[in-house]
Amino acid sequence: MNFYWVIDMAKKRKGKIKVLTCKKCEFSFEVGSQDDLDNRGKTWPFVAPMPDKEGNVTITQMAVWKCPKCGYTIRGSIGKTKGEFAGKSKKDQISEKLAENVEFDIEIFANSMGAQKENLEKILVKMIEKKMISGNIDGDTYKP
Ligand SMILES: [Zn+2]
Repeated sequence: MNFYWVIDMAKKRKGKIKVLTCKKCEFSFEVGSQDDLDNRGKTWPFVAPMPDKEGNVTITQMAVWKCPKCGYTIRGSIGKTKGEFAGKSKKDQISEKLAENVEFDIEIFANSMGAQKENLEKILVKMIEKKMISGNIDGDTYKP
């Protein structure tokens, strides 16, 4: 299972059930219900452009459904999760890597963390923009 798809089950159990409604005919269904599963089309992660203060990125899992009543395309989120890694946090892993003060290939480093290159790149870009780090990105390489 890709970590991006891990939905915080604890939150779900607290009774935060998400209801989606068709904009056209107002048919509504709960995320996780049979109506959801029967009509769900493609899903994709939407990555927030800004990491939070812990260095984690909020990832919203988006999906589309075909309304079972009228056929209209319903678009919404299934849930949100923080991009976190097992064991060491993403922030720690990135901090350690940056502390080495050496060039690295963004894609290879992302893969080593089990992350996606584009997400890591977004974090690095934001850190550079906010002057948290002084390096720059050249193609697929981060240069300190
Ligand atoms: Zn509908």
